[in-house]
Amino acid sequence: FEDVRISRISSSIRVIPDFPKPGILFQDITTLLLDPVAFKDTIDLFVERYTDKQISVVAGVEARGFIFGPPIALAIGAKFVPMRKPNKLPGAVISEEYSLEYGTDKIEMHVGAVQAGERAIVIDDLIATGGTLLAAINLLERVGAEVVECACVIELAELKGRDRLGKKPLFVLVSP
Ligand code: AMP
Repeated sequence: FEDVRISRISSSIRVIPDFPKPGILFQDITTLLLDPVAFKDTIDLFVERYTDKQISVVAGVEARGFIFGPPIALAIGAKFVPMRKPNKLPGAVISEEYSLEYGTDKIEMHVGAVQAGERAIVIDDLIATGGTLLAAINLLERVGAEVVECACVIELAELKGRDRLGKKPLFVLVSP
């Protein structure tokens, strides 16, 4: 049954070459969202994994972590915490910078959203180099949370982002 769900999810993801720039094979999850069965199966697979694991925080990375995170959070009875691009959150924030192919980027989290000792998972649509997830892990660990695992729909395995996360477990559904 699991294989049927995974293959439906996999085939619902559209690949667009040369977006947003030449040489990038963009994995487009908007076509997964158009298939209610594939979308539900995606959420169910994460919910099955994280139910009864005492997770109180689902942290979602802007922007596509905001699509998958909230339904998982609701189903497992956890809070949803947005990890946002700079200067979007109105309250006091902590930020974490991370390196991109050219230059750096930053994500931010509201101070007070997560308490020390809380058990968290981090959700995004895709892991490439792992820089984004690592920044999210650092934000949560700086406030004393325990990041139990990172979860993505897609892993670009050849970029070895998993190695960059060190010992932190990474759960993914598809690896094209
Ligand atoms: P990274 O920090 O290198 O692991 O990049 C992951 C972030 O960039 C995620 O938020 C992805 O949505 C986005 N991303 C990177 N590469 C791709 C790709 N080939 N297709 C779609 N999204 C990507």
